[in-house]
This record gives sequence, C-alpha cells and structure tokens, in this order.
Amino acid sequence: MNILIFGPNGSGKGTQGDIAKDKYNLDHIESGAIFRKHIGGGTELGLKAKEFINKGELVPDDITIPMVLDVLSGSNEGWLLDGFPRSLVQGEKLWEALQKDGVKLDYVIEIKLPREIAKARIMGRRLCANNPNHPNNVGIPVIAPDGDKCRVCGGELSAREDDQDEEAINKRHDIYYDEETGTMAACNFYKNMEGAEYKFIELNGEDSIDTIKEYLISQLD
Ligand code: AMP
Repeated sequence: MNILIFGPNGSGKGTQGDIAKDKYNLDHIESGAIFRKHIGGGTELGLKAKEFINKGELVPDDITIPMVLDVLSGSNEGWLLDGFPRSLVQGEKLWEALQKDGVKLDYVIEIKLPREIAKARIMGRRLCANNPNHPNNVGIPVIAPDGDKCRVCGGELSAREDDQDEEAINKRHDIYYDEETGTMAACNFYKNMEGAEYKFIELNGEDSIDTIKEYLISQLD
C-alpha cells in the first residue's frame, strides 16, 4: 500500500495522515524529517541542505529527488509519502520513478484549505504549558482557549515563535499554493492524470477533525 498526501501547513495533514499510516502499517516517509536527520547526523547531504532549509527555501531537486527515491525503495511495508512532491517537477519525477520500478500507487489524498484559513490556523495555535497535545487555537472556534488559558486544563498558554513568523508562513504557502510549478501543480498533476489506477481522495480541510477523519476512513478500503 503506497499513499501520497498533499495539504498545506495548517491543514491537519499530520493528524489525517496518521489514520492512513496506522490503518495499513505504513512507513511514514517525510522529506523534511529525512533532511533533519541528515542535519542532526552532520552528513554531507545535511550540510548542503541546511543552507536552503534555514532560508526557508526548497532544497534543490538534484539533492532532494534521489534522496527521497532512495528512501522509498528501501521501504518493505509500503509508505505514506509526506512533504514530497512539493513541485511539479518533483511530482513528474516521482511518477516516472514509480512507473519505471513497477511500484503501484494506491491513494493520493489532498486536504483542501483556503490559504487565508491555513494562515489563521497556524498563527492561532497555542501551546499548553502542561500538555502540548491539548488543542487550543484562537483561529478555530471549537477549540478556542478558555480566555487566555488552556481549554482542557486551564494551563498557561503560549504561541510558538515560528508560528508567528508571518513572512515564513507566507513563503511556505507561496510554494504550496503555486498552481503553475509548485505543490498545487504537483497535486493537480496526480488529480488530473488520465487512466490513473489510484484513488484520489479530496478532503475538506474546513470540516472538523472528526468529520474529516470519518470521511477519510470511509474512503479507504
Ligand atoms: P518540512 O518539515 O516539510 O516543513 O520541511 C522542512 C524543510 O525541508 C523545507 O522548508 C524545505 O527547505 C526542505 N524540504 C522538505 N521537503 C522538501 C522537498 N520535497 N523539496 C525541497 N525541499 C524540501
């Protein structure tokens, strides 16, 4: 079972991806996490990637594409690929590689969320001092904090610094929402593929987490 998942930062991609990953016992292959591992390990690839990552830019394709394809080919259980492809070129190269290796793609999942909402969600996230998993978001009414305290336990709340960096959020979303050459272009490449044998599942990221989960489960065989 092999799955691609698309969704902007702030769309709940991690939460929904976990559902598919756990159901089929897949390897979660996340390009950003692979880079972080290389950086942590001080590898040559990590050193090269770091300068781009620190600037909030995409790591060049000649580094990224072979790295991801290599990790995919080492997976025995099947994979959930997250964070790749991020551009049309990456999408096309991935498809070429899968065809060449005779690897079947089973599902492509897209979480759709308007850009302004994705941004408001990221900037609205608040972290509970007692438990980082307590959901609090000033941008989402159903999980709005209780005044300025955690809605679950009344703990102190704070905002993550990187969640408040509007310029960085805009930069990421510029890449994601670019329908010409960016991530949306890659997503549309898979959505509009003629004769595709995989199932394309569109999720409405504006629905509640549980509604999205239920729908996703109903779409997976
Ligand atoms: P992420 O954890 O997905 O936010 O990725 C962290 C950083 O790794 C990104 O900001 C990019 O610099 C780099 N990165 C991750 N995935 C890719 C990709 N598919 N292509 C190019 N760069 C990537």
